[in-house]
Amino acid sequence: MDLKIISSNKLSKADPVFGQQSFDNHEQIIFCHDKDTSLKAIIGIHNTVLGPALGGTRMWNYENEWEALNDVLRLSRGMTFKSAITGLNLGGGKAVIIGNAKTHKTPELMRKFGEFVNSLSGKYITAEDVGMTTSDMDIVREVTPHVVGVSEGHGGSGNPAPNTAFGVFMGMKAAAKFKYGSDDLKGKSVFVQGVGNVGEALIKHLLKEGAKVTIADINREQLETVGNKYKVALYEGNDIYSQNMDIYAPCALGATINDDTINKIKAQIIAGSANNQLAEDRHGVMLQEKGIVYAPDFLINAGGLINVYAEIEHCDKQETIRKTENIYNTTLEILERAAQNGVTPNVAALKMAKERIQKRKNEQLK
Ligand code: NAD
Repeated sequence: MDLKIISSNKLSKADPVFGQQSFDNHEQIIFCHDKDTSLKAIIGIHNTVLGPALGGTRMWNYENEWEALNDVLRLSRGMTFKSAITGLNLGGGKAVIIGNAKTHKTPELMRKFGEFVNSLSGKYITAEDVGMTTSDMDIVREVTPHVVGVSEGHGGSGNPAPNTAFGVFMGMKAAAKFKYGSDDLKGKSVFVQGVGNVGEALIKHLLKEGAKVTIADINREQLETVGNKYKVALYEGNDIYSQNMDIYAPCALGATINDDTINKIKAQIIAGSANNQLAEDRHGVMLQEKGIVYAPDFLINAGGLINVYAEIEHCDKQETIRKTENIYNTTLEILERAAQNGVTPNVAALKMAKERIQKRKNEQLK
């Protein structure tokens, strides 16, 4: 099943690549190694029907190679559907570099990685992800044009997080329209979990709209800094889920909707930027049974992708804003389709994404 692949951590040791559940019809997987820089990277190209496979590079100290492989496969597959549902002419891909980003990353390693990306002649376009910064992408740009998310000084679109936050805000408003009949968030209590790049930018939209914002973050310094800056309430306990609120915005880690939390959640709407918020697909069903509206993460957090897409399509800021605003319409359509068809919003969103890919495939076959 589709969503099981996203949430699956199961690894098949017998069939290391094609036999993985997360393999799911990947077009190509590239294992990259360089002895001199000790680069070990895997690039996953899941699907290129709609266009070149775009997805960030994650650098992480994986426990083992199985974990790295599983991660890149799940992430690249996710990118296929994120691009498709957002209406972009992009396929899905992702890369992982095995190692500690703080101690192992060097300009030489990044350049070597860029050379591997370049060898794919644009079939895969990289960008930043966890463990990467805009300046790392600037180094990659020295050896390949197939990179986005480079700094504005180098002609790029810069930090995508503000646009990601804008898209999340659009998705949240659409969810409110579906739930309450009005998309006005004035007076609604919203808990933002994680006030990093995206969470902080989301707060600005929420305050402008008149929402009552409470924030939480495991980094105390960050929590206090952001709290003081915006004069919002702080939640310092460790059970955010049980708190009374209208909207829960997960903007930190994935899988926060799980067996431990699901029965505590008091929110009526869940809309945030974190990837893979549902630990398993059955948690989406449970949310629906409880009457909680869940705005699919891969749909409403696509603002960052739309931001970097502008570098490929050479479209202006207005076009980026228009595409991001459209997350509102797509979210509303998905929530309505899901309700009509008795499926979860995640399932409805995946179906819509797959329909778009199939339509393009049929056109290509003509
Ligand atoms: P970030 O690292 O800037 O911020 C994350 C914040 O969450 C940090 O302040 C961290 O201390 C906090 N945090 C971590 N674990 C926590 C926990 N258990 N409880 C509370 N706070 C916790 O990351 P970001 O760029 O703001 O991204 C946030 C999420 O959105 C991530 O899951 C990311 O994958 C996803 N996302 C980001 C973008 C983007 O454009 N940056 C795009 C799509 C999806």
